[in-house]
Amino acid sequence: MRTAVVTGGGSGIGKAIAERLKADGLRVATLDLNPPATEHSYKADVTSREQIDEALTRIRASLGPVTVLVNAAGLDGFKRFADLSFASWQRVIDVNLNGVFHCVQAVLPDMVETGWGRIVNISSSSAHSGQQYMAHYVSAKSAVNGLTKALALELGPAGVTVNAVPPGFIDTPMLRKAEERGLLGGTIEDHIQRTPVRRVGTPQDLAATCSFLISEEAGYITGQIVGVNGGRNT
Ligand code: NAP
Repeated sequence: MRTAVVTGGGSGIGKAIAERLKADGLRVATLDLNPPATEHSYKADVTSREQIDEALTRIRASLGPVTVLVNAAGLDGFKRFADLSFASWQRVIDVNLNGVFHCVQAVLPDMVETGWGRIVNISSSSAHSGQQYMAHYVSAKSAVNGLTKALALELGPAGVTVNAVPPGFIDTPMLRKAEERGLLGGTIEDHIQRTPVRRVGTPQDLAATCSFLISEEAGYITGQIVGVNGGRNT
C-alpha cells in the first residue's frame, strides 16, 4: 500500500484530494497550518523545512515511506503591483513556490529508494492567463509549472513522475472569500456564464485528475501541465 502526503489537505482542493486518495486505497497524511483534529493530519508550515521534516518523521513512523506527494497548499493575494509590499511578495512566493521546493526535497529520498514516486503540483490557471492584482501569485504558480517540467526530466530515470494540475475557478473557501471581497471581477454566477462547460469546478474535479496521475496507469505521463478549468483556458 502506498503512502501519500497532501499539503493543504485540510481544506478545499487538498481536502478532496486526500479523501479521494484514501478511497483509492492509499495511506494518506495531510500537512496544514491549522490542521483539523483528525487522524494523520499534521501541523506544518510548508515554508519551514524544519516543520516539514518533523512532520515527515512522524508520518514515516506511522505510515511508512512517502512515495506520493501532492502539493496543494497555497496562499492567494490581491494588490495593485504599485502597492504590493516586498514582504507580501515574498510570503506568497514562499508558500506557493518555496513550499513546493521544500516538500519535494524532503520526500524525494523515499521515492528514489523505492524506485517509484508520483508528484503532483497544484499550480493555477492564472499562470496561463495572467491575473491582474495577483503578480506575486501568478509569478509563483508559473514557476511551479516550470519546476514541474525541470523535475520531470531529472527524476524520470529514478521512476518518479512529476506533473502540474492548474485549477481554474474551483468552488473552495479561497474562491468564496475572493468573491465576498469583490475581487473576482463579478460574481461566481457571472463567471459561470463565461465558462464553456457552464459550471464552477469542484474540488472533486481536481481529485479525480490527481487520482489518475498518481495511478500505475499514468506512468508514461510526466512533465505535463494538465488544466482543470472547464475550458476557460485552452
Ligand atoms: P483553500 O481552501 O484556501 O486551501 C488552502 C490550503 O492550504 C489550506 O488547507 C491551508 O491551510 C493550506 N496552507 C496555506 N498556507 C499554508 C502554509 N504556509 N503551510 C501549510 N499549509 C498552508 O484553497 P483551495 O482553493 O483549496 O486551493 C488549493 C490550491 O489550489 C492552492 O494551491 C491554490 O493556489 C490552488 N488554486 C485554487 C483555485 C480555485 O479556484 N480555488 C484556482 C487556482 C489555483 P490552513 O487552512 O490551515 O491555513
